[in-house]
Amino acid sequence: MATSLERPFDLFIGGRDVPGARGERRTLLDPASNQPLAQSTVGSADDARAAMEVADRAYRESNWSQDDGARRGKVLFRLAALLETNLEAFARLETLNMGKPLRESRGDIGYVVRTLEYFAGLADKLEGETVPVPGPRLDYTLREPLGVTVHIAPWNYPLLLAIRSVAPALAAGNSVVLKPASLTPLTAVAFARLTKEAGVPDGIFNVVVGNGADVGEALIEDARCRSVTFTGSSEVGHHIAELAARRLLPLTLELGGKGPVLVFADADLDRAARGIGYGIFQNAGQMCWAASRLFVHESLRVALLEKLRMIAEGLKLGPGVQDGVEMGPLVSADQVRRVLGYVSDARASGGSVVTGGMRAESPALAAGNFVAPTILADVPASSRAIREEIFGPVLSVTSFTDVDDAVRQANDTAYGLLGAVWTRDLATAHSVARRLECGMVVVNESPITYPQTPFAGVKASGLGFEQGRRALETYTRRKNILVNVATAKKKP
Ligand code: NAP
Ligand code: MG
Repeated sequence: MATSLERPFDLFIGGRDVPGARGERRTLLDPASNQPLAQSTVGSADDARAAMEVADRAYRESNWSQDDGARRGKVLFRLAALLETNLEAFARLETLNMGKPLRESRGDIGYVVRTLEYFAGLADKLEGETVPVPGPRLDYTLREPLGVTVHIAPWNYPLLLAIRSVAPALAAGNSVVLKPASLTPLTAVAFARLTKEAGVPDGIFNVVVGNGADVGEALIEDARCRSVTFTGSSEVGHHIAELAARRLLPLTLELGGKGPVLVFADADLDRAARGIGYGIFQNAGQMCWAASRLFVHESLRVALLEKLRMIAEGLKLGPGVQDGVEMGPLVSADQVRRVLGYVSDARASGGSVVTGGMRAESPALAAGNFVAPTILADVPASSRAIREEIFGPVLSVTSFTDVDDAVRQANDTAYGLLGAVWTRDLATAHSVARRLECGMVVVNESPITYPQTPFAGVKASGLGFEQGRRALETYTRRKNILVNVATAKKKP
């Protein structure tokens, strides 16, 4: 069974599990209890280079890249079906490793299935163009795969954020080396085992687990690397951009966020409260697109805060595998310290804690990484808790007086991933959506996305985009071919 916890989670290179050159393993902990969960291999820079070599050879020697796109599509459809058959086991593995409630993990794995299907369907739709040129000439373009594409993923949606870029890269005919986050490699390794069963040729999909600075950098610096997709913190993203620039590698960056939510005076308050609660407490707030800065019209402030406080205090916390749990633990004890550190900063800078702001109180949760859903009010805009990404279940609330004031406060951040607007007024909805410096805006919705809709950040939130049909082109290059089609002049 691909997902069994009894068996160590090794690297996956050339179509099989390999223990890594150093044979080093680490014990991963269940974030709900901090008890040992599974053994994961820690790969090295040598393993990274070995994977690049295998991927490069498979790219050149298997017929994956040259084959009819429809055939690649078929393999990816098979992979989607296999994952769907194993959805429950994968969801459970994701929950055990990362902590989120099973219900959310089922949603995540379902999303991966849908992403694979979406790009499987596009694999035979990579079309070039013909370009009119003067004289007896024919000019056309081809879309060719790049070669070996490198993908580096974070721990908050482990399989989903890995496959979000891997699926189009494979569909376009590339071979792939994936480095999952060290804390959450389990579903990526289990998924790799399924690719073999689905008929992905050996060496076309590889997983190397290991430290970012070690394995991640070795992958990018390898001469065979042809593109980099990185999802993670803005800090590491900047560093990766420098590494990629040295080699002129195409780069996609999906980085952090500090999403603004604007609630106007005419908003449907109950719907807004539910949407806002979901947008910050889902996945215990460990979301790049968390709607973490709430700006509410001053007339609604008291009523909305009260509704949100009730939502926060009503959430059932517990181990993600337990029935009815609505919020799980944070991914690690380090993350708990980090999040509570921001709460202290908020307090020190003059903000108040409306609810939460500490570890969960129940003794049954004491051993795990549980933080109570937290709402902060009136934290000064200069506080670290407002300027930096917290990546935990912490919402900050500030009020505004008019539209310009709301937009100004919302845009006063280094980040620009997702913004949310709550209003019944059509003109306010569309005009504010345009004025927000964000890659994505939702109106009267909690954060939501689909494989067919672009996912993009601006400012410190990223470079390029993922999802949607154009994402396939990211993993191709355009070649121009010009042919002189003049016929030879007949000799008199
Ligand atoms: P992270 O520390 O930046 O790590 C992300 C990945 O990069 C991990 O696989 C990590 O490996 C690797 N890495 C670390 N240092 C590296 C280096 N020098 N060279 C190459 N790779 C390196 O982020 P995280 O803590 O896992 O995840 C949280 C962050 O991701 C948040 O900032 C969040 O906003 C962002 N995020 C963004 C999106 C989006 O779509 N925009 C989605 C989800 C998350 P190790 O695990 O070994 O450190
Ligand atoms: Mg990190």
